[in-house]
Amino acid sequence: MSDTDPPETDADTLRTPIVAVLGHVDHGKTSLLDRIRGSAVAAGESGAITQHIGATAVPLSVISEIAGELVDPTDFDLPGLLFIDTPGHHSFSTLRSRGGALADIAILVVDVNDGFQPQTLEAIDILKRTETPFIVAANKIDTVPGWRPNENSPVQQTMESQSERVQSDLNENLYEIIGELSDNGFSADMYWRVQNFQANIGVVPVSAETGEGVPDLLTVMMGLSQRYMKEEMAIDAAGPGVGTVLEVKDTQGFGTTLDAIIYDGTIRADDTIVVGGLQGPIVTDVRALLRPRPLEEIRTEQTFEQVDAVAAADGVKIAAPDLDGAMAGAPIRVIRDRNRSEVIAEVESELAGIEVTTQEEGVVVKADTLGSLEAISSTLEEEEIPIMRAEVGAVAPRDIRVAETANEPTHRAILAFSVEVLDDARDLAEQEEVKLFENDVIYQLIEEYDDHVTAIEEAQQEQILENITRPAKFRVLKDHTFRQSDPAVVGVEVLSGLLRRNVNVVRWEGGDPKRVGRLKTIQDEGEDVDEARTGERMAVSIDGPTVGRQIEEGDDLWVELPEKHAKILEQELREDISVDEREALSMYLEKRREQSPFWGK
Ligand code: GDP
Repeated sequence: MSDTDPPETDADTLRTPIVAVLGHVDHGKTSLLDRIRGSAVAAGESGAITQHIGATAVPLSVISEIAGELVDPTDFDLPGLLFIDTPGHHSFSTLRSRGGALADIAILVVDVNDGFQPQTLEAIDILKRTETPFIVAANKIDTVPGWRPNENSPVQQTMESQSERVQSDLNENLYEIIGELSDNGFSADMYWRVQNFQANIGVVPVSAETGEGVPDLLTVMMGLSQRYMKEEMAIDAAGPGVGTVLEVKDTQGFGTTLDAIIYDGTIRADDTIVVGGLQGPIVTDVRALLRPRPLEEIRTEQTFEQVDAVAAADGVKIAAPDLDGAMAGAPIRVIRDRNRSEVIAEVESELAGIEVTTQEEGVVVKADTLGSLEAISSTLEEEEIPIMRAEVGAVAPRDIRVAETANEPTHRAILAFSVEVLDDARDLAEQEEVKLFENDVIYQLIEEYDDHVTAIEEAQQEQILENITRPAKFRVLKDHTFRQSDPAVVGVEVLSGLLRRNVNVVRWEGGDPKRVGRLKTIQDEGEDVDEARTGERMAVSIDGPTVGRQIEEGDDLWVELPEKHAKILEQELREDISVDEREALSMYLEKRREQSPFWGK
């Protein structure tokens, strides 16, 4: 065991603010985190910056070393910043504390050249919804053509050293970002002009590549936390720990373990904890608390070292029995001297607070964490896509069994977000014609599903159109009677609409349609065809009439529309048929309604 001492009892220790990094893919989230870690390692004496589970702690001493003249460490009493290692809003929404965001503060990374992109907007929405304070890192300033880098320099300094052209190009891009923030309801400005960071968003130009602006970024984060979050950071550090599960995974020698972030109190190696699980709260005894070994000791056999206690805010790997059903995103609470059933009730109510409305009929949703399940479900709800079942975990055969009970073909679908699909489930899905959608980006997942629904609806529409009698008016041509009767074979020209085979033919007599026979075949220069359109001339065979008696050359004939078909065509399919079919339909309806005004209504 290491000699990490549990903190002494102190009702208001200030904890480290937790920082999340969000932004569009490729805008530089990972690079920025790497840069911050790298700068921190370079600045601090070895060991000052510690590798944690799921997070990187950068202590105040290191921040002030990096920030140089920008920071006076005596201005601060918060201990530093804890950066969550997995960037992106997926992890951001997953990491929750008491129903809110786990991160106290966020960095929204925006590529200065690329500006706002779909995931930037998604991130903004999430930050708004969770009321998380944030600053904008306008990244990649080194890519402005003609930029002369000054490694790790404060940003105003390096901006002033650039040519006027470069400065004006960069400023133009920065003001574009400020404009886009304002379009999204945030008043924003360059961070050095912002007085009140609660009312305004500070924009910090940075380069994750050269480290320019990183001192400013850390200073602004530190200042913002100190100024506006100090009260929230006051915790009872020795009290029973509270945290969030980042990930449930196997760790060699320890079985199923939890990677967790503790955001309040302390967890000790001899504590009993309550963890949110698939089947409700799990009560279990901690077997070991683990941390990555410092880099210099990496050669030893074990990757992890055991510690006695971990205090907020920090990341830790928890080994304990019975963790198989634990869920990523779920709460963890230490019982210690508290009432056991009270703590269980708290975890239960936190689990219940994650709301997904399910219905008798709808799609099946599987997601990797509670937070993502909630995010995806709320998006589906907004899009009015009903959900029959929503669960955390891999797609298993029983999910296919649920999905195949859906009545609507569009609902025979499973939306799998960042989860594995078990092989036998995939086979079963294929066999049962349940459609699987897999993606790690919510909006893409839903877009794929929407496309599928559109395709099904179009196919259904086509099927309906295929089975419905289509309107057409056609004229019997002069001198084109090829056969008088049984059947009559005559040349016709389609005047309006779509003429198809196997339809009844009528002629108007004193306002009433009089059936003259059934059109059996259509021929185009001796070849059988299925249909003829406006303007086309074809030879048709009609069973029933004799030319010269029931029909005459020069007659205008119509396809007989059953009343039900006419009604569907007029009320549901008007937009799906061609202009001249619509015209033929209107003329037909008009003629019918002269006699019976409510025909087909
Ligand atoms: P993420 O998807 O937001 O995590 O983006 P990454 O950190 O993976 O960066 C995407 C690409 O942009 C990588 O090729 C990075 O090397 C590059 N990149 C990130 N930040 C900068 C920067 O400040 N300057 C330059 N020139 N390239 C950058």
